[in-house]
Amino acid sequence: MQREPPDAARIDALLPQTQCTRCGYAACLPYATAIAAGQADINQCPPGGSATIQALADLLGREFRPLNPANGIEGAARVAFIVEERCIGCARCLAPCPVDAIVGAAKLTHTVLADRCTGCELCLPPCPVDCIEMRPSPAAVPPDLNRRRYQAHTARLARQAEQRRQELAAMKAGAAAAASDSRP
Ligand code: SF4
Ligand code: SF4
Ligand code: SF4
Repeated sequence: MQREPPDAARIDALLPQTQCTRCGYAACLPYATAIAAGQADINQCPPGGSATIQALADLLGREFRPLNPANGIEGAARVAFIVEERCIGCARCLAPCPVDAIVGAAKLTHTVLADRCTGCELCLPPCPVDCIEMRPSPAAVPPDLNRRRYQAHTARLARQAEQRRQELAAMKAGAAAAASDSRP
């Protein structure tokens, strides 16, 4: 009898949840969804490396395949560190962080909360002065905690977008009412 393909949630449960996008997808869950749909291979996650590929192979009843070098190389867990003397406080590193691990306000020095950082490296490219370095991780964050923090981050963004939409709608309604009142 043919085995039922596992759903995306069971595949996602095996991924490290750094949300780094190195697999070619926007986050871990979209990659899991693509694997479940037969649209992605099991060897595209550098943070998970060989252990994750083996776990996926076991779950899906497939052969182990080495990590695809096009997606990156396997290495020890790292976290971002901001060299504060060089930080100009531009805040460009805040938005890309998938777990809100960077604290700081515009024109003030920023800092990475090492115990929140997934090591995704998404904050590095936007920094105009290259003052963010990757250093050895003091302790790996459990994937479940990474996932919950990412979900909290995306929920916050969705709330902010909805609030902006409502404010814009109220402004448009106000402008339309004012224009209508001013007509003779
Ligand atoms: S950890 Fe990075 S490469 Fe691995 S599945 Fe998640 S987003 Fe993709
Ligand atoms: S601080 Fe940088 S490396 Fe760490 S999770 Fe945030 S974006 Fe990723
Ligand atoms: S992007 Fe770089 S310079 Fe700008 S606030 Fe972040 S760490 Fe500082």
